[in-house]
Amino acid sequence: MSEKIERSDDEWRKLLSPEEYQILRQKGTERAFTGHYYKTKDNGTYVCAACGHELFSADTKYDSGSGWPSFFAPLAGESVATETDRSHGMVRTEAMCARCGSHLGHVFEDGPAPTGLRYCMNSVSLKLKPKDG
Ligand code: FE
Repeated sequence: MSEKIERSDDEWRKLLSPEEYQILRQKGTERAFTGHYYKTKDNGTYVCAACGHELFSADTKYDSGSGWPSFFAPLAGESVATETDRSHGMVRTEAMCARCGSHLGHVFEDGPAPTGLRYCMNSVSLKLKPKDG
């Protein structure tokens, strides 16, 4: 896969907006039904808002009703990294950009076929690259 990107906290703070920094680098969560992308049905590829790494095809996006953009599969095996997250008194699976380690959201096992997975993402962590652009 492409080389990993490692930056200091100060570098990220300069590169990202305060909102992006809070979610991508401090593992924040945007409020449900407030993000740019939870309703979006446009074609294209969703990339990491921090580093541009390709994460999800719009073909795998579905309306989960959660208020966050939801996908049933990552673009490729090396797009999204996962790790057990025991914060906030819960055991969840955290999803991160496999290239820069930025926080994207969480993965739950209540998604649709064929994977049964729900990649529950923050809109702030994503940028949609349109198919024809
Ligand atoms: Fe990234």
